[in-house]
Amino acid sequence: MEIRMKKISILGSTGSIGTQTLDIVRNQGDIQVTALAAGSNIDLLEKQIREFRPSVACVWDSDKARQLKGRIADLFVKVVSGMEGLTEAAVEKDAQIVVTAVVGMIGIRPTIEAMKAGKDIALANKETLVTAGHLIMPLAREMGVGILPVDSEHSAIFQCLNGENKRQIHKILLTASGGPFRGRTRQELKEIQVEDALRHPNWSMGKKITIDSSTMVNKGLEVMEARWLFDVNMDQVQVVVQPKSVIHSMVEFEDGAVMAQLGTPDMKLPIQYALYYPERRYLPGERLDFWTMNQIAFEKPDFENFPGLRLAYEAGKKGGSMPTVYNAANEYAVSEFLNRRIAYLEIAEMIEKAMENHRTIENPTVEEILKTEQETYELLKTQHAGKMIG
Ligand code: NDP
Ligand code: MG
Repeated sequence: MEIRMKKISILGSTGSIGTQTLDIVRNQGDIQVTALAAGSNIDLLEKQIREFRPSVACVWDSDKARQLKGRIADLFVKVVSGMEGLTEAAVEKDAQIVVTAVVGMIGIRPTIEAMKAGKDIALANKETLVTAGHLIMPLAREMGVGILPVDSEHSAIFQCLNGENKRQIHKILLTASGGPFRGRTRQELKEIQVEDALRHPNWSMGKKITIDSSTMVNKGLEVMEARWLFDVNMDQVQVVVQPKSVIHSMVEFEDGAVMAQLGTPDMKLPIQYALYYPERRYLPGERLDFWTMNQIAFEKPDFENFPGLRLAYEAGKKGGSMPTVYNAANEYAVSEFLNRRIAYLEIAEMIEKAMENHRTIENPTVEEILKTEQETYELLKTQHAGKMIG
């Protein structure tokens, strides 16, 4: 019997989601990788290319792309770079699904181009929906392509909606672990160092999203992501803290029924579900053990000490270009924090400042979104430089 190969391209293949996607490809054996893209890690990318033999490989950094080309001269792989290259990887002709696992708003354009080329999107890159959901969702309907959520909470909601009428969602209950600093006072949060913030209690993820989980900004981005994916308004998305990450999210329907998806915290499940939807495949790994788990506890989110979440609701309700400002300011602040140039609590302060300074553009185009991103970086850079001198 002939095995029908599924064909996928992965943008961000060397990262946390990217490498776990390739683990699934390796385990399942019926997926062919058509394109791989990374930022600069050509050592790992070369290994991946030799193992999975894509027809296109993209390295954002052009010098690194040149180096990679030399290293794999023995293979028939087209090496490309920059935004043009990333787009070429996204539209590789044989791919059916494009896994968008790059960090940041760099994901918007290639995602749009992949959709225009008729590809389904396995979407990890939440920034794309947060900032351009008003463009992405109508385009998906127009092109008849699927947006399959990879983010664990959104995958959970997606699974809860199987066979249901989306119009009968009353509320989305987005669960949150609360991060490593749940329950801390503002005074205690002042002293947080990079190493503390990089230690997540349940999930192992890329650096940026680990910091975002500790500030609750990740949850804020996820509220906005959910609003677009499931076509609800911001107030219908309620954050529920469930520290052990056993429930990955829930949906409350009009009749009061609540559906939940539970499991061990392992990103491979949502990734694999997105790749094979609506089919389920065997996935090796730990299973939930209800006898050792004993109980599941719930808490309200702490909007006071974690203003990142409050600001996300504000940004999402304002809409237009405001979520872009929220996201860009956070990206800037997190990178400053990781480089030890600002204190932990300044992350949320920078987001708030940038939002206060912004005049919202309704229905921004991709160009306007990217321009807003740049303006937000510029604003914070100037203000911050001023502060350091003054
Ligand atoms: P990582 O930082 O681990 O990986 C990012 C990937 O993107 C790497 O492959 C990196 O390449 C690549 N990359 C960075 N910049 C570029 C660029 N300009 N062009 C091409 N590739 C680039 O991030 P994660 O895997 O943690 O996260 C990816 C996305 O998924 C984010 O949007 C995140 O919010 C989302 N997500 C992640 C989850 C997780 O568990 N990690 C859970 C839910 C969502 P290089 O290695 O060369 O730098
Ligand atoms: Mg998540």
